[in-house]
Amino acid sequence: MDWARQINLKTPAEIAIMREAGHINATVLTTVRNLLQPGVSTADLDAAAEEVLRKYGAVSPFKGYGYPPFPNSITVSINEELVHGIPSASRKLKEGDIVSVDCGTFFEGFVADSAFSAGVGSISPKAQKLLEVTEQALAVGVAQMRANNRTGDISAAIQQYVESHGFHVVREYTGHGVGRQMHEGPQVPNYGKAGTGVLLRPGMVIALEPMVQLGTHKTKVLRDKWTVVSADGSLTAHFEHSVAVTEGDPLLLTVL
Ligand code: MG
Ligand code: MG
Repeated sequence: MDWARQINLKTPAEIAIMREAGHINATVLTTVRNLLQPGVSTADLDAAAEEVLRKYGAVSPFKGYGYPPFPNSITVSINEELVHGIPSASRKLKEGDIVSVDCGTFFEGFVADSAFSAGVGSISPKAQKLLEVTEQALAVGVAQMRANNRTGDISAAIQQYVESHGFHVVREYTGHGVGRQMHEGPQVPNYGKAGTGVLLRPGMVIALEPMVQLGTHKTKVLRDKWTVVSADGSLTAHFEHSVAVTEGDPLLLTVL
């Protein structure tokens, strides 16, 4: 992919702006998370997200992205839906669902990109485990985001952690650099070999996003040309943060 070749190092001033964008993005996702309950439609969640973005003078880079142009500000993906679900007034959350919400924030020339998955009401122990492992896989990957490590160190750590719990990492969709564009280099798969790939340098910002499935690693795209589901219909989860590589510890940008 062409975008994956373009790695743009950010200055400290640029990272400070991205941190503001990340704060807004986290505010959006917190707002949406607090609305998750049976009967709420995925369009309601999108409307709430837009209201927060508007308040901050920000917009989502998702809206109008790709072809056919993505119609909304967030993606909402339920159960076997992995990513890129299109919000709809007729799609209502049910007790026991697991919902993945992804949001981007475009603010003062920079993008922040983050996602979470959470249960609606009480969920099955298996679903709970899937959420915990996927969230922890993100943390395990972030811990590898240190200068002089390589992207493969991140990929391998995520894959090993997920597979040690008997779950599967998706191959077709990956983490990515983020900055003035939503997708920049380097590409960071959720599987791979330690010691390979792009050398990490201070000023790199990466949207790291483990996507994990219960049954197999295979996915397919629905006829709406956006919604990605697990090929076998099994449960899926997705967590994402935009994270800066620094001289020291990795810096999470998409937090409150
Ligand atoms: Mg995202
Ligand atoms: Mg992303």
